[in-house]
Amino acid sequence: MMGQALAKRDIHRGIILYDEQKFSRALEIWLSVLSKLRKPQDRFSVHGYVCMALLETGYYKEALEHALRQVDIAEWQNKDILKSEAFYNTARAFQTLGEMSKCLTFCERSLNYETDIPALPGYVHLCMGCAFLALGLISKAYMSLQFALDTSEEHEDKVLELMTRSSLANVFTAVRDYETAREHHWKAIKVARVFEAVDSSFKFMRRVLANAAVVMLKVGSYSDALDIAEEAIKDALTFSDRPVQSKCLFIFAEVHRERYDLKTAYPRYEAAYELAHEIGDQKLQMEIIMGMARAAEAEHDLLQAYTLAEKSYNMSMQMSCKLEAVRCLEHQSDLAIKLDRPEVSENSDYLRGQLLQELELYCGICDEPLGDRPGRLEVLDCCHFVHQKCARYLLRASQTQTVHRCPCPACRTKMPITSTTTF
Ligand SMILES: [Zn+2]
Ligand SMILES: [Zn+2]
Repeated sequence: MMGQALAKRDIHRGIILYDEQKFSRALEIWLSVLSKLRKPQDRFSVHGYVCMALLETGYYKEALEHALRQVDIAEWQNKDILKSEAFYNTARAFQTLGEMSKCLTFCERSLNYETDIPALPGYVHLCMGCAFLALGLISKAYMSLQFALDTSEEHEDKVLELMTRSSLANVFTAVRDYETAREHHWKAIKVARVFEAVDSSFKFMRRVLANAAVVMLKVGSYSDALDIAEEAIKDALTFSDRPVQSKCLFIFAEVHRERYDLKTAYPRYEAAYELAHEIGDQKLQMEIIMGMARAAEAEHDLLQAYTLAEKSYNMSMQMSCKLEAVRCLEHQSDLAIKLDRPEVSENSDYLRGQLLQELELYCGICDEPLGDRPGRLEVLDCCHFVHQKCARYLLRASQTQTVHRCPCPACRTKMPITSTTTF
């Protein structure tokens, strides 16, 4: 019994270190305590802590192992509240590893069981939203994130709120509505700043900032992107947060490339790639290769650019990241024209059209692809996206009818006119 009491004290010491962001020391203690614990319930908790710390420091494969150990214990104990947590942790590990369909399966399994963590369904929906986004399923991503946002309000869970806002911003970035993306980022940063004022070592700020820097980059605010990423990476280096480090290095590389400073860009692409590879972030690796393709193009090495664009296309298809694949094909098509290979360009355009169809990434009103050009979008009640400039036609159509409701052109869902705010 004495041993168990000591072990409990060690677990607690780990938690204190974890809260101080001394992740590697916390991990060391928890891992050594695991072998001493008798009760499955205690081992379950520690596997959970270890998984969380590993996810935060970018040891994704190792995190998955501990999540799966939790699944074993939960199933063996046959307790619902353990299952919901274990399945969620497994889902998160799969998400970070770029295994989106496995991630979604485990999210659904988690939601099937009761939980004693009030906001857990919100976190599960956040995870689902991120996975749907990676798969390019924008409406589904939006729907899941909306659920997560509602849960965050219901339970006044500010961490869930800021992470969800940050992910919603990523949704709008993916379809090139940078204005709406920016609004969500500012809200996320605002919530994070409130936390930071209370606890200066607040770890969510750097993640929110790293995400926001991507939008700054896309809208061409390069010095803002650099400043924000600079702030994020400083914090990430202090606390060995490798996921944020790799993302910031990528942002630096992209900014330098956009400024045609390729000598500065290349080493940053390489460092970002090495780190992304080390932590097992396949999606970031693909994005880095996309960036390197653009760098090769800037150096007029069109063949190399095409090879890299094709490589990132293949990687994105392997992960079913189909919206990324669409972007790769756009670049491939451009490059093929420059290389005087019109048939290759036509083929890329054809594949791109097919993917857009599959993802239903069309405005239901004008039939043009969504996100072809930067611009404001409107989300209808059914979570279908249309161009904001097209949305007013829904209203016009409805004026000729006696019923003052305008159905969504994609799914025929009827909605009150008041739901669309910016006609
Ligand atoms: Zn439209
Ligand atoms: Zn609809």
